[in-house]
Amino acid sequence: MPSKQRNVSGLALTLAKQTWLIDCGEATQHQMLHTKVKPRKVSAVWVTHLHGDHVFGLPGFLSTRSALDGSSPLTLYGPKGIKKWLELTMKVTGSYLGYDLTIVEYEDGDTFEQDGHIVTVRRLEHRFPSYGFRIEAPERPGALLVEKVKALGIPSGPIYRTIKQSDTFEFEGKTYASKEYVTDTVAGPVVAILGDTVPCPNAAILATGVDVLVHEATFMQAEAKLARQYGHSTTVEAATLAKTAQVGRLIVTHISARYQGRDEAFVDEVRTVFPDSHVATDFFEFTVGD
Ligand SMILES: [Zn+2]
Ligand SMILES: [Zn+2]
Repeated sequence: MPSKQRNVSGLALTLAKQTWLIDCGEATQHQMLHTKVKPRKVSAVWVTHLHGDHVFGLPGFLSTRSALDGSSPLTLYGPKGIKKWLELTMKVTGSYLGYDLTIVEYEDGDTFEQDGHIVTVRRLEHRFPSYGFRIEAPERPGALLVEKVKALGIPSGPIYRTIKQSDTFEFEGKTYASKEYVTDTVAGPVVAILGDTVPCPNAAILATGVDVLVHEATFMQAEAKLARQYGHSTTVEAATLAKTAQVGRLIVTHISARYQGRDEAFVDEVRTVFPDSHVATDFFEFTVGD
């Protein structure tokens, strides 16, 4: 449920040019108004599962994107059932979109390429079919070995870009192999963003070695029984996964409204197990990589 301090689930992942939404709970579009996230720049929406706190904001967001002159195509990825629900909702409410909306119903184990990124989908364990995503950014070009280039007598200029982007380059009639003057490519950052779940093997597979893991922690450890009853994880469980999967950073989300006003105790409990943790608040931003 939303509280005055915390809305339901909605996360934006900003890439070089595009933005993705991961889940779009009710009033996500209202919260976006307080951020730099622009609906027309959203190229994909990834839905972890069809519980209302993760999808009830979708019809409104998609319609507003159209009203704000969003004309570029958008791909919506979600579990089975999302197409039927959304198409019926749009039809019954007479909603019209001025852009191409492609709805992809994924299955456990699927892999997609979207905006140059590779996304792997795996089923988690919840009271309702729920999934997580492992998102891998493309490799980055190596850095220019400036001293070595200067030693050839080449002054800085547009040729530096040519050296980084082409296999060979020419200078004063001689041809050089670019790879001698650029470091090896660097692996892009990897993040895992998981839907609602209890601890399960697929969560660990998706999270292994990622730079950032976004994981739910609906309850504190004292309410572990409730967590199990409702198909959710606790602070300690999320942090334990972060530790065993050797992730760089943990960001916990989906905090129960019952902990309102107890932020400090909540953060402390997560960090007891995994110190490099953050508890997401609305409008919290985190930069992955450099
Ligand atoms: Zn759920
Ligand atoms: Zn939920």
